[in-house]
Amino acid sequence: MRRLRSVRVRLTAWYTLALLVLLTLFALAIYLLARAQLYDSFDQSLRTRLQEVSAALDHDSSENHLAVTRLSRDESMVNVASGERVLLFDGAGRVLDQLGKPLTPAQQAALWRAVGSEVRMLWLDGSFDVRLARSAPLAGGLTVVVARPDDPVEQPLHNILIAFAVAAPLALLLAAIGGYFLTGRVLRPVAAITHAAREMRAHDLSHRLALGPAQDELTELASTFDAMLDRIEAGVERQRRFTADASHELRTPLTAITTHAELALSEPRTAADYRATLTTILGEGQQMQRLIADLLDLARSDAEQLAAQEPVDLLDLATEAIGRLSGRAAAAGVELWLDDGGVERAVVCGSPGPLGRVLLNLLDNAIKYSPAGGCIVVQLATPPAPPVAEVNSGEVQRNCPLLAVSVLDQGAGITADHLPHLFDRFYRADAARTREENSSSGLGLAICAAIAHAHGGWIGVSSQPQGSRFTLYLPVAAGNCS
Ligand code: ADP
Repeated sequence: MRRLRSVRVRLTAWYTLALLVLLTLFALAIYLLARAQLYDSFDQSLRTRLQEVSAALDHDSSENHLAVTRLSRDESMVNVASGERVLLFDGAGRVLDQLGKPLTPAQQAALWRAVGSEVRMLWLDGSFDVRLARSAPLAGGLTVVVARPDDPVEQPLHNILIAFAVAAPLALLLAAIGGYFLTGRVLRPVAAITHAAREMRAHDLSHRLALGPAQDELTELASTFDAMLDRIEAGVERQRRFTADASHELRTPLTAITTHAELALSEPRTAADYRATLTTILGEGQQMQRLIADLLDLARSDAEQLAAQEPVDLLDLATEAIGRLSGRAAAAGVELWLDDGGVERAVVCGSPGPLGRVLLNLLDNAIKYSPAGGCIVVQLATPPAPPVAEVNSGEVQRNCPLLAVSVLDQGAGITADHLPHLFDRFYRADAARTREENSSSGLGLAICAAIAHAHGGWIGVSSQPQGSRFTLYLPVAAGNCS
């Protein structure tokens, strides 16, 4: 929970910091813009005032001093309320006349020294900081200076600063609270995932988040998490069943061995009795050997630990499988046929050993379940035309070119209710029908399916009372398989 909260705090902190930067930039921009505009219009009015006064003086340039005296009597010319001062300097910087509240001689001197540019700021002593405008020299070397405190500009700017100083922290506080609350809401599915993961135990994987259909990234994460749990639960269940089945399968011959040995040792026996017991024990031992070999094969193909991929000719593989099982077929009174289906090139990418094992298994089953006098056909086809009622061992990908090797027999067939389970581990459709009871582990087809899947293919099965058809589908080799 500590980590979750820290993510929440971190998100809120970043969000608030970003807002602080934005607000500061925004406030700065507004302040600078307002300042420029206020000073612009302030300076404009200062210039207008300067022109008014200069024009009044120009009326009688021969008697400038008198003109100013007349002006100073004209109250309407002096804007006392704004703190304005108008000063008339002679060429030597002496004040000839001034309008507005009189300035000290030091202030007057500072004002004279400051003139030079048209409009500028002058910081005097704090009590009379002004913005001043100066006329060009008039007739008689006179200069008019108009000075005003810049309060009309500074006051609104000051107000803007105060407004931001109050509003910005308030906005930040509200945003931080809102952000913290919203982040909490958004992160709720994460909290649910954490809780579910904590609740999960190896023996109980049934807990789900069930946050409903994916609406955003987090609910999508939750439903992906649920789907992953489904797969893990199914996998664990499969593993559990497999272990239970494997132990059960191994226990049966082991029990038989122990029972026979105990019985033989319980009292003195004849040599023939011991021989019979040892023969039985040997048979059970061989059955166990086969079973363990099958289990290893299955584990290997499950982990896709197949040898390096290389081009494998299915026609060669089928011919070899038929050759290897021809003796067994002859003993069972069954005929084996190869139909190459006119296929010129039947090359796939894969491991010849495991793929040969698939054909041997299918062919072995066909012999096992065929009546004497029956006929088995190994048939190659491209492109494959699967029978309509075919059941597949797993996911099917028909979008790439395929090759198919089918094994068709004339056995009693498999009923429809068994077909979907044939590829389950340790599944036997009908043990009574096997020719050799002991050779059946129920793992053969599961191994075939695992090998086919490891090669990007699958196994299909269809069956009728007249016989069954098992087909290995594999993608055609593209390139040199490296
Ligand atoms: P097993 O070792 O028992 O043969 P498999 O996985 O190879 O195990 O086969 C599973 C079951 O499928 C068999 O027990 C059998 O009932 C059925 N089966 C497989 N191949 C055939 C076939 N060609 N004809 C009829 N039934 C078959």
